[in-house]
Amino acid sequence: MLLLLAGLACGPGDPGAASAPAPCRPGSAPAGHTRSVTLQVRVGPGVDPDAVQARLDRDRELAAWLGLSLVADGPPRPVALDAPIGGDSAIPASDGRTAGGGSVDAGKGAGDRAAGGDDRAARARRLFAPALGLLADRDAAAPADTVDIVVTRRLVAEQSSAGEALARLEAFTVSPRMAPATAGGFDLSALLPPGYRPTVFVSWRAWSQDRAAPVDSLLVHELGHALGLSHVDDPDNLMGPRRWSSCLPVIDEAQWEVIRSR
Ligand SMILES: [Zn+2]
Repeated sequence: MLLLLAGLACGPGDPGAASAPAPCRPGSAPAGHTRSVTLQVRVGPGVDPDAVQARLDRDRELAAWLGLSLVADGPPRPVALDAPIGGDSAIPASDGRTAGGGSVDAGKGAGDRAAGGDDRAARARRLFAPALGLLADRDAAAPADTVDIVVTRRLVAEQSSAGEALARLEAFTVSPRMAPATAGGFDLSALLPPGYRPTVFVSWRAWSQDRAAPVDSLLVHELGHALGLSHVDDPDNLMGPRRWSSCLPVIDEAQWEVIRSR
């Protein structure tokens, strides 16, 4: 399933509260859990590392409120991502040994209804091959609980053969922490190399365009996926069906149980 995230907002932003957004659920507060996550941030061609760093610093505040302590493993470093998703690249050979999960987050207008069944699996292989190739280029000496963040200028090629289905793709995450049963309908598992780390692919275009909102959950939401969380219906939740929010989302106890147990 190519999951839709409707662009629902908490309500009109209050300019006076821009520096101190309120919790989405009045009275709610983080439950006192903490989890440290090491980030290895890599930027594709045309993405300014300083801009990514500045944005990361801001999102770190949101993560801290949720109980996630983000520790960058050095400054963003360049990575060669030669072809955006949707490019007409060759399909790599795959033996499909590795189980794993993935989640795809797209903006309004995207959907998975354009493809189904085996056709969708084949399409997924073709679309995601350029990005997933990076997963094999891993630093085996990285500490545990490391999540790779790959920021690209665009996730989708201008002349994408994917056409309308992925035209607004904003981010996707692959993570061995996600149960296969909750993985996105795109069959990414056959493409994942053994031992891959949780990896978030995010479009700098999408990540940077929501600067008008005091709180943005795009990257932190994807980190939730990286830590094993799936989507929920609760609109106040970090993993809920809302984006471009102006309030502080929550992670509930059941989700913390998932984060702790994987
Ligand atoms: Zn998501």
